[in-house]
Amino acid sequence: MQPPAVIAIDGPAGSGKSTLGALLARQLGYIYFDTGVMYRALTVVALQQQLDLHDAAALATLAQRTQIEVLRPTIADGRQYTVRANGQDITLELRQPVIDQHVSFVALQPAVRSELVRQQRAIGTRGQVVMVGRDIGTVVMPDAPLKIYLSASLHERARRRHAQYIHHHGDALERVVVELARRDQLDAHVLQPASDAIVINTDHLSPEEEVEYVLALWRQHATAAACPTMGIAAHPDPLE
Ligand code: C5P
Repeated sequence: MQPPAVIAIDGPAGSGKSTLGALLARQLGYIYFDTGVMYRALTVVALQQQLDLHDAAALATLAQRTQIEVLRPTIADGRQYTVRANGQDITLELRQPVIDQHVSFVALQPAVRSELVRQQRAIGTRGQVVMVGRDIGTVVMPDAPLKIYLSASLHERARRRHAQYIHHHGDALERVVVELARRDQLDAHVLQPASDAIVINTDHLSPEEEVEYVLALWRQHATAAACPTMGIAAHPDPLE
């Protein structure tokens, strides 16, 4: 049986996953699913309920009881999606600096991960989806036919984040560098490219170049699937 049509995109914060994922999904007519919003949504609820983030049992219960919905935008304020937790629209809370500070800590809890991975898999196995996160190619959808791992230097990632959120947070670039480095460290346990992932360094690539590259890989994959004897080259370079 063919694996579901899934493109898995993993990589550290600021490596360009969401920009690439959203553009690819639009081009292919697939669903764009950013799994990070689920960890963020749970963190919003945990802080609203003033939970002790060291309390693994409380976080496990919260993960099981919180209904997280990722929907098409319900308000035309420039958002990519609407996220609800137990019916409450928390989309604007997801990117607050306080959530950036705590989300990786919440995501460290094994019970939180297993519950959210279960929910993510249910969406992934329906197919026609571009899934973005940290462990999509390794854990959530290990049979995804195309796995991309984006990398970029810490400074380039910080520069992008700073440009993206300057109007919201006004943080100095140096603070963004420190914050991303801290998050990289906490996320290190999930941040491994799958052995069959194609690693792309995005330091000197525009989003359009990345999309073109991944679409070419996807087309190669589709051709190889339709004509199995062709196979995919071990080191494809579709830009050549
Ligand atoms: O991608 P984003 O920065 O929104 O993710 C927020 C956090 O959620 C990450 O720093 C990481 O701790 C966690 N995460 C995860 N596994 C994923 C997606 C996100 O652990 N698949």
